[in-house]
Amino acid sequence: VRNPGQTENSIYRGGRTVREYIFTKAEQDGRLEREDVLELLSIAVGSVDYYRLLELAEADAHRRFGNKGQIYAQIGLNASPCPANCGFCSLAKDVFNPDNSFTLPIENVSGIAGQLAEAGADEIFLMTTADYDNEIFLKCGEAVRKLIPPTMRLVANVGDFDLSYASELRSAGFTGAYHIRRLGEGKDTQLDPRQRIKTLDAIKSSGLELYYCVEPIGPEHSYEEIADEIIRGRDYEADVMAVMKRVCVPGTALWGRGEIDSDEQAKICAVTELCVKPRRAMGVHEPDLKSLRAGANQIYAEVSVNPRDLSLKTETGRGASVAKAEAMLKETGWGHQRR
Ligand code: SF4
Repeated sequence: VRNPGQTENSIYRGGRTVREYIFTKAEQDGRLEREDVLELLSIAVGSVDYYRLLELAEADAHRRFGNKGQIYAQIGLNASPCPANCGFCSLAKDVFNPDNSFTLPIENVSGIAGQLAEAGADEIFLMTTADYDNEIFLKCGEAVRKLIPPTMRLVANVGDFDLSYASELRSAGFTGAYHIRRLGEGKDTQLDPRQRIKTLDAIKSSGLELYYCVEPIGPEHSYEEIADEIIRGRDYEADVMAVMKRVCVPGTALWGRGEIDSDEQAKICAVTELCVKPRRAMGVHEPDLKSLRAGANQIYAEVSVNPRDLSLKTETGRGASVAKAEAMLKETGWGHQRR
């Protein structure tokens, strides 16, 4: 059941409605507790409180991020049947055609990264399937590091790893890692949720920046589950936080479960911004105008493989270009400064 049972403005605390109390706390930069998060998530889309929530999160993000939007660019390094077999992913071993497998040569990866940096991306992400070779990935990182500005952040989005490999990532020039305990992890994926947490611990211990995300959100996920991941992002002091709805990719195991709409995603985005207040950026993945008006200031451009796309060149499919991302930031009132 999606709503935890409260009716609008039905519960009182200190003479005020609970919701009024939470809004005031959020306005005053107070810490939102789990029950506050659940109450905000239960707000009905389209209600007066819904628009108040979105406005509050938008104002909060503009104030905290100084009106600056950010564009990260992600390159998918390989396509092959991935053993993690995530039920929403076009690369899952049960659905990906092995005949379509490929791995981008290292020089291509570094070349694309250089172009994306030149085009105006703020940070570069390298993404692989869960079984990509660790040593080759380090070499990719080293090659990219040489072709992008020295101060530009470089982020790994790979399978699980330990502290020793996290340190190797740093030595290769990576500054951060995108890693998550997914909604439905271990049920809709063939990955061990405990291993995901160990990797989060390794990232934090290594000094890499952590990029966390509440994802992939589907209509079946309860607000309790969503709140757990919002709070986890805060507990891990994610440097960058994000929300992402699950995209229904035809042929994947979870295709039939459907999607949440951008109004619902914007609400989750707003609550996440107000609860986590990530230090550097609050993202929505993939780019979405509504969430950019609800607390998000960061979106992605994407090149090559993308788990949410059947095209192996997502730049010709779902993937946004840096120019498109820049236009979306501008349309929603976010400035974007080129390096
Ligand atoms: S989402 Fe990532 S880990 Fe899961 S199947 Fe796809 S490529 Fe593998």
